[in-house]
Amino acid sequence: MNRKIISSHYSRRQFIHDMSLNAGMAALAMNGVHLYSSCNSSVSDQNKTSAMAQNSKKKPGIALVGLGGYAGGQLAPALQQTENCYLAGIVTGTPSKIETWKSRYNIPDKNIYNYENFDNIKDNADIDIVYVVLPNSMHAEYVIRAARAGKHVICEKPMAITVEDCDKMIAACKEAGKMLSIGYRLHFEPYNLEMARLGQKKVYGNIKKMNAGFGFTIGDPTQWRLKKYLAGGGPLMDLGIYCIQGCCYTTGMEPIAVRAQEGMKTDMEKFKEVEQSLSWQFEFPDGIVAEGKTSYADSMNILRAEAEKGWFEVNPAYNYSGQKGATSDGPMDFPKVNQQAKQMDDFADAVMNNRPTPVPGEMGRRDVKYLQAIYKAMRTGERVEIK
Ligand code: NDP
Repeated sequence: MNRKIISSHYSRRQFIHDMSLNAGMAALAMNGVHLYSSCNSSVSDQNKTSAMAQNSKKKPGIALVGLGGYAGGQLAPALQQTENCYLAGIVTGTPSKIETWKSRYNIPDKNIYNYENFDNIKDNADIDIVYVVLPNSMHAEYVIRAARAGKHVICEKPMAITVEDCDKMIAACKEAGKMLSIGYRLHFEPYNLEMARLGQKKVYGNIKKMNAGFGFTIGDPTQWRLKKYLAGGGPLMDLGIYCIQGCCYTTGMEPIAVRAQEGMKTDMEKFKEVEQSLSWQFEFPDGIVAEGKTSYADSMNILRAEAEKGWFEVNPAYNYSGQKGATSDGPMDFPKVNQQAKQMDDFADAVMNNRPTPVPGEMGRRDVKYLQAIYKAMRTGERVEIK
């Protein structure tokens, strides 16, 4: 088994241990090395920390803002499995959703808000963390309002649609003395963690080339994901961001320049406002080239690295479950996890223990900067340097 071969070189646990010793977690997070720190403690270590924290402090309550597909399909069910936090409240603009949520998750009336009375959440001691799960362009407003209401915040990806908005969100959380984290669930997923370990530890030598692609066929042509003012762009904002993340955590580096090309539009009704597909080429330090591709009309789901002494990949890479991985030595084999439960438990633990999150707002801002650079390269046809 691949895992055995790897462990004979350098074990995952040893790597994690070394990484934790070598630098502070916040610094790691900014270099893409964070991926290990995010899952750096074993489950039993984490439980110990949580148990310790919970003895002295109350378990944080989370309020979900925007009860759509992701909040209802993934986050609320995951919050039934979390150990360090629980679903305490909801914020919705659709009154007809309330009854179902109330009865399914036992949420008291006093913990139910709408977008108008949302700021009153400041007086609610049950709610410690606000999780913003709204369309992309609404993230900034609700993160800022949550911070001003004195709550820690998790914000879904992409953090915002402009870097300027990201700056305001980070500033609001700093000013309020609250933590801000991005919903980067793959930092808690074992196959993606393994990609980061293999790449960053150079288990197969220096990486030469990376390939990352994420796409699916989008349905309803009226949905917000196809509206520029709500989504900020097309599949790049929604799916391509996973490929960007994957290349950063696998190399442990940050791209220095990019070129990009928009794909042909075959459905003008759906893709009036945003791109249908997009390809880009990142230049990383040491001559590493990372080719990315995203689409709302084609299926792809891969993260692959080619290195001096072999290759490693996860395919499918970005789903909620069902990852499959292999290296030039054979298949990977890791246990199934609930990514969202791990992600929220880690943030709750960070809040309780006053330690940095491995997926901070600064990382979300960094990625929005890359998204903007890709769009600029696409529009201009030029090589865009990233600073
Ligand atoms: P949905 O369209 O399913 O849900 C969005 C919800 O936001 C709506 O149901 C609604 O909730 C609320 N909302 C408020 N204003 C608007 C508006 N003008 N238009 C549409 N909805 C509005 O989206 P998703 O749940 O799929 O995505 C939400 C966020 O989560 C996005 O930023 C997305 O990128 C991210 N996401 C992240 C995933 C991940 O794996 N990390 C996976 C999927 C999404 P209500 O009726 O309660 O007000």
